[in-house]
Amino acid sequence: FDVRHRKHFSLQIQITQFGEEQKVMLVKDITERKRVETMRQNFIADVSHELRTPLTVINGYLEMLADMDLPPALTKAITQMNGQGQRMKTLVNDLIQLSKLESANTDHPGDWFDLQQMAHSVVDQLQPLSNGRIQLRCNRRIEIRGLAEEMTSVLSNLLTNALKYGGDGPVEFTVRAGMDGVKVSVSDQGPGIPAQHISRLTERFYRVDDSRESKVGGSGLGLAIVKHALEHHDTVLDIESTLGKGSSFSFTIPYDRCRVHEPD
Ligand code: ADP
Repeated sequence: FDVRHRKHFSLQIQITQFGEEQKVMLVKDITERKRVETMRQNFIADVSHELRTPLTVINGYLEMLADMDLPPALTKAITQMNGQGQRMKTLVNDLIQLSKLESANTDHPGDWFDLQQMAHSVVDQLQPLSNGRIQLRCNRRIEIRGLAEEMTSVLSNLLTNALKYGGDGPVEFTVRAGMDGVKVSVSDQGPGIPAQHISRLTERFYRVDDSRESKVGGSGLGLAIVKHALEHHDTVLDIESTLGKGSSFSFTIPYDRCRVHEPD
């Protein structure tokens, strides 16, 4: 293909070993694919932004109506509308967050932040939902180089999921420095996830049981957000689950992004 007359183009280059002393280089023009992908991302970002304002107005009035003395039939309808309005708000906010993550510039590795402090504060924020069910283990100060806002969202999403889908038992939240880096894991003792679903959980809107989970509430975007945010920290989400025993979601932040201090 001829790229001489084009100013901007994207190429995907793949080199593989071929026999003992040769290599095969495969060059693919992915300009069009990239263009369509960017268009799709921009479209979703624009639509989500446009939806936010009317939705805020509708939700505001619904909240006002919910506080008024109305006939029971109307109160029921308004309570339901209020619930759905809040779901739409979560959905729109998550879509905006996901679009930002997808188009974020990841050239800069980010700034240092205190992971131990962050873990404690996320646990505190989730107290109304958890009622003390989260057991945090992190006995040393650990600093991470990355994007604090994104990491907060990762921790909060994983813990919220464990509380929502992980039964009524305790949720273990562990931050530990190991050989390869700092490992963060969130484990529950819930019903677990059937094996065939595990590899698809980080896809947008993927849910194991649509009817049950749309009642629990959630956008279906939480783990997609987690996946993207972890990519920006050079790591991936590892999911292990045993039916009837529980699930564990973990990731390891590589050492070059960590500063581990002596135990408290
Ligand atoms: P949602 O916003 O619906 O919670 P997520 O992307 O966060 O979406 O999660 C996707 C799906 O993964 C959930 O709908 C649920 O089926 C499943 N899931 C996530 N965490 C757990 C868990 N700890 N135990 C069992 N299922 C889980």
